[in-house]
Amino acid sequence: MPDDLTPAAARPSLAGLGREALAAELSALGAAPFRTRQLWHWIYHRGVTDFADMTSLAKGFRDELAAAYTLARPAVSQALRSADGTRKWLLRFADGQEAETVHIPETDRGTLCVSSQVGCTLNCTFCHTGTQRLVRNLGAAEIVGQVMVARDALGEWPSPREDRQVTNIVLMGMGEPLYNFDNVAAAMKIVMDPEGLAISRRKITLSTAGVVPMIPRCGAELGVNLAISLHAVTDALRDQLVPLNRKYPIAELLDACRAYPGSSNARRITFEYVMLDGVNDSPAEARELVRLLNGIPAKVNLIPFNPWPGAPFRCSSDQAIAAFSDIVFAAGYSAPVRTPRGRDILAACGQLKSASVRARRSERAAMPAA
Ligand code: SAH
Repeated sequence: MPDDLTPAAARPSLAGLGREALAAELSALGAAPFRTRQLWHWIYHRGVTDFADMTSLAKGFRDELAAAYTLARPAVSQALRSADGTRKWLLRFADGQEAETVHIPETDRGTLCVSSQVGCTLNCTFCHTGTQRLVRNLGAAEIVGQVMVARDALGEWPSPREDRQVTNIVLMGMGEPLYNFDNVAAAMKIVMDPEGLAISRRKITLSTAGVVPMIPRCGAELGVNLAISLHAVTDALRDQLVPLNRKYPIAELLDACRAYPGSSNARRITFEYVMLDGVNDSPAEARELVRLLNGIPAKVNLIPFNPWPGAPFRCSSDQAIAAFSDIVFAAGYSAPVRTPRGRDILAACGQLKSASVRARRSERAAMPAA
């Protein structure tokens, strides 16, 4: 280790480690195996940020831990609160990369929207994140760290059993979670652990643009709810909107949904459908959507397109959205229209990290043409 590093910067954080990794660190310190469970409780149930607060541990052991480790979370570089109560945290990781987490409070629940990558490779034409390059996958600790930062800010420690502010997690922030499955899975296992953050797989929804080969693993290894960003009912149009469709077309995607373990009427797959004016919002397309979903325990989530500067689409009219929703609803599917939240803090779909993007764009504009 170079000796110019300050000890604090050199100490790794235990917050975000899985049980095995935590056990390995503790055994390297010479601690008995039962310590893992104690530490786990303090880190993920109580949420302590200082080893001194781990009062069930001997003072000497706490000092030893503090000399070797921290309990640091990702740094919050910006915290915003919308007039509607939505909150957004821009997190800065050790390498300076940033990603966002959004908390959306509702009367009967609170949903945390978590990012899985910095940037994205998918280039969906209506998505603002798609205009950014993929910078990198987030690590498991950086994904768990988003939940811990939200719990810190909401004052939600120890993990409450009821009246929670974070009842649900949606992997619908930046990035494609099924392109970073190992880290997402490791993080969700920590989040779901009943002795810690204790958020049940039934309250977690993973949203994918349709990485078909990974869908069975998602079901088998995590068993979380699945959401599919469908957005079009023909391959010709979906190829344009979600270019990943050229690799995994609609029929293959829907087959993977049919085979998704645990899907039932009580546990439906969500189909997200962004409403783009004159592009995918006709009554004929609503009827075709109903036909495609036949036999899949499904619900449809209609998302008003959230515009961004320079976007090549407009949001459908309220009438078009209502007519579309009525057709899907009449066929027996729930088809709520998602209410835009946190627009004043750029928290809405596809807008995450837009301030940093603007900064990058102005850098690019300042560069001489090649
Ligand atoms: N890559 C994953 C998760 C991230 S996107 C996926 O594609 O599902 C989360 C949801 O927001 C997706 O349904 C995406 O299509 C939608 N979305 C992205 N940009 C949007 C925009 N500008 N307006 C409305 N919804 C948008």
